[in-house]
Amino acid sequence: MNITSVNPANGKTIKSYPTHTPNELNNKITQTHQAWLQWRNSEPLHRAQLLHELAATLIKRKDELAELMALEMGKPIKQGAAEIDKCAAVCTYYADNAESFLKDQPIETEAQKSFVTFNPIGVVLAVMPWNFPFWQVFRFLAPALAAGNCGVLKHASNVPGCALIIEDMVREAGFPADVFKTLLVGSDQVEAIIENPLVKAVTLTGSTNAGIKVAQKAGSVLKKTVLELGGSDAYIILEDADLEMAATACTDSRLINSGQSCIAAKRFIVVEPVAEKFTQLMLEKMKAKRMGDPLNADTEVGPQARVDLRDELHEQVQQSIKAGAQCILGGEIPEGENAFYPPTILTKVKKGMPAHDDELFGPVAAIIIAKDEADAINIANDSVFGLGGAVFTQDVARGEHIAASQLEAGSCFVNSLVKSDPRLPFGGIKQSGYGRELGMFGIHEFVNIKTVYVK
Ligand code: NAP
Repeated sequence: MNITSVNPANGKTIKSYPTHTPNELNNKITQTHQAWLQWRNSEPLHRAQLLHELAATLIKRKDELAELMALEMGKPIKQGAAEIDKCAAVCTYYADNAESFLKDQPIETEAQKSFVTFNPIGVVLAVMPWNFPFWQVFRFLAPALAAGNCGVLKHASNVPGCALIIEDMVREAGFPADVFKTLLVGSDQVEAIIENPLVKAVTLTGSTNAGIKVAQKAGSVLKKTVLELGGSDAYIILEDADLEMAATACTDSRLINSGQSCIAAKRFIVVEPVAEKFTQLMLEKMKAKRMGDPLNADTEVGPQARVDLRDELHEQVQQSIKAGAQCILGGEIPEGENAFYPPTILTKVKKGMPAHDDELFGPVAAIIIAKDEADAINIANDSVFGLGGAVFTQDVARGEHIAASQLEAGSCFVNSLVKSDPRLPFGGIKQSGYGRELGMFGIHEFVNIKTVYVK
């Protein structure tokens, strides 16, 4: 079998790679485990130095990496460069902070000495999506290596070039051979990897369906999972919001990565008195975004990553319109051999429509009108997902209260779009998954939090 990358801007095949045989796969996992037997004893300072080198390697190769993303999954080149900066930042963050996050924690008991220490657990399998083909991997990889773990990556099948270059950069930065390996395999080989006794845990970023499958398998052999899954983030716009600022943040969030972000704003819940004005502002801003060749530095919206995903999105839009939604912008497939889909706005969105109930993983904004604040919060929480959410109001205390105690999501922002940041824990609740990445909480997910008691 082969893994093939296809340019979504023109439908042309980039390259095909043969997948590993079961034997090759087992050998790679064994090599990574062998590397871990040494790596687990490495000094924190040494790990930190190598992570700084990795950050430098990313920056050095930034243009090449941004171009590769544009070719393999259509990310506009400027956004690709920003993604690489963020990958370098997460390496630097854990280089600077891992030692203190993993320092022994004394706990007073009747013993002579009792404390908590953090031991690495071994080889962690990462199953990753194509939408941020470097960032998703680095936010797992930097804390994993900093904690003394090793990693194997099963990346999404449309970004094999990105997957292989990550392995290359880890080596180039000076890490010992085999601490991190890319596995060229399809999703049908993931179960066998999870079953391998040398693989100790699994982290998956992707759709809820894939998360359920992987968690079921991992549960059957009692291996820990962290799941970062889909979302349908609600942004609430209250009557006292700065509407201009809110519409800018909402548009930018909806169109992050051409609409293909787990924490992109997907549902815009506007209270009735400002609904018309907000809709008008959002229409102007969405209309002004430039869709085009991802290799062009002016492009703000590139193609969708694959034609089948674009067609699935269009079907969700069509079904929502059939059920009563109104399309006031976009909604039509452009001509040609490509995966483009234009910025689209649906109004009159109601429960029962795909635009209300499901994740729309593309540049489609669903505007929902609420009676008042309480109604808006109820609509926001009436979702199977719980990844992020935001509220816009000029009354900061009101916004903070809603964000902190009313919205059911893993990250809630006030007067800002939701974004991930190496310093802040990131993850979801409900069908958006469990566990956390980033920050101190992220590095503690895949360590043995060990109690030591000396009588
Ligand atoms: P996907 O189809 O679930 O794929 C994600 C990864 O899982 C890929 O490597 C895929 O491999 C693999 N996979 C799929 N089905 C599998 C199965 N049954 N067993 C084992 N592995 C399987 O998701 P996607 O289309 O790449 O990404 C979009 C989804 O990811 C959206 O729902 C988005 O919200 C979510 N996402 C979440 C976060 C977060 O942090 N919460 C971040 C980004 C994206 P193949 O490519 O070979 O199928």
